[in-house]
Amino acid sequence: MKIYNTLTKKKEEFIPVNPPNVGIYVCGPTVYDYFHIGNARSFVMADIIQRYMRYKGYKVKFVMNLTDVDDKIIKKANEEGVDAKEIAERFSEAFFEDIEKLKVRRADVYPKATEHIAEIVDLIKKLEKKGIAYRTNGDVFYDVLKFDGYGKLSGKKLDELESGARVEVNEKKHNPLDFALWKSAKPDEPHWESPWGEGRPGWHIECSAMSMKHLGESFDIHAGGHDLIFPHHENEIAQSEGATGKPFVKYWIHFGFLNIRDEKMSKSLGNFFTAREILKKYPAETIRLLFSQTHYASPLNFSEELLNSVNKGLEKITNFYQTINGLINQTDESAGYPQFDVQKFYHAFEAAMDDDFNTPKAVAVIYDFIKEANKLISGEKNYSKNFYADILKFMDKTAEGVLGIVQKEKVSQSDTPEKVDELLDLLIKTRLEAKKSKNYQLADMIRDELNKLGYILQDTKDGTIIKRK
Ligand SMILES: [Zn+2]
Repeated sequence: MKIYNTLTKKKEEFIPVNPPNVGIYVCGPTVYDYFHIGNARSFVMADIIQRYMRYKGYKVKFVMNLTDVDDKIIKKANEEGVDAKEIAERFSEAFFEDIEKLKVRRADVYPKATEHIAEIVDLIKKLEKKGIAYRTNGDVFYDVLKFDGYGKLSGKKLDELESGARVEVNEKKHNPLDFALWKSAKPDEPHWESPWGEGRPGWHIECSAMSMKHLGESFDIHAGGHDLIFPHHENEIAQSEGATGKPFVKYWIHFGFLNIRDEKMSKSLGNFFTAREILKKYPAETIRLLFSQTHYASPLNFSEELLNSVNKGLEKITNFYQTINGLINQTDESAGYPQFDVQKFYHAFEAAMDDDFNTPKAVAVIYDFIKEANKLISGEKNYSKNFYADILKFMDKTAEGVLGIVQKEKVSQSDTPEKVDELLDLLIKTRLEAKKSKNYQLADMIRDELNKLGYILQDTKDGTIIKRK
């Protein structure tokens, strides 16, 4: 298996540190809001990577942190006048609900920053002892000039980074690229005791402390969004290797950006979608299939048209699965096994996935498989139970087991509350058009029929409002 490694900028043969064990750490959410569809892409692709590692027989330990103390959480808590803890708990719960809906398998550990303060403090103490960290009035900073390898992940030299990065100006720092390991307590902020006084950890040190605690000082795979390469992951390497003197992570994997119609997603542009919103309209399998059709490292251009077209692909997969599932119980005893080489498709699927998790190719293999099998089953002939069982097994292991794109129980979408709202909207618009063209008979009919169904329409100067009886 080959993986593109951001650290070496090459596709490399995957050789685990301690086979058959594989340790994977993925930067998780900062729990201050619902996660957006770009985050969903990272979570789903990381899920596919861990599922495939398990498919290959590796003993995977998958760790994803929850950043539950952070400026954004504190800001939101202050806006709402509640405790930071309440915000973190509310959105952690929402995070788990949404990843479950996305069919993302649970990680083995979800460490929380606030439950690893002792480990974080220990790590900072180590760095201070080695002279790599310095304190100024209750804050502790990392001294980037003391770590030789600084810039090796982003592939940039210190002066390039200094001029290119938007680094915060702070006269307490020796170098503009130095970053906070420990921040002294401010009023109304969560804080903990430490050798440097009361305060809270910086974001970067959390990931170093939690990944090494749960996966060891050197582990296999660290993944995250492309935007985390600098400074977050660069800083993680500096902290961990600075403290231990050992290589921190063997393979760094980064997920490409998700754009909305060629534009960066942002709240101010009005093109911001949470995963939760999209999941109300589309099944998880559609979203996962859409993500799988693009290589994890490439940018992905997201739109509803794209989701709708992917939905058609999903229908094909679902129909095929249901047909085979129906056929498996109606075969006659004398039916034989046709000329069909399932192994060929396993090999093709694995070859695709072994090549830096080439999911677009893997999806193409699934479609080829369906096409060939469909040719056989569309005829009059019956085949042996074994044949249908082999087909289902292939779909279960690859399409569902690794990619998560088989709708096992096809959910009826017609009666979701959102669909009902859309239909009511449509009727109100139709009635309005009828009134405009003076077709009062039709307008009244729509009102009366809705009334029978338990909805009351009221015309106001701001438009029509609808109420349930
Ligand atoms: Zn992280």
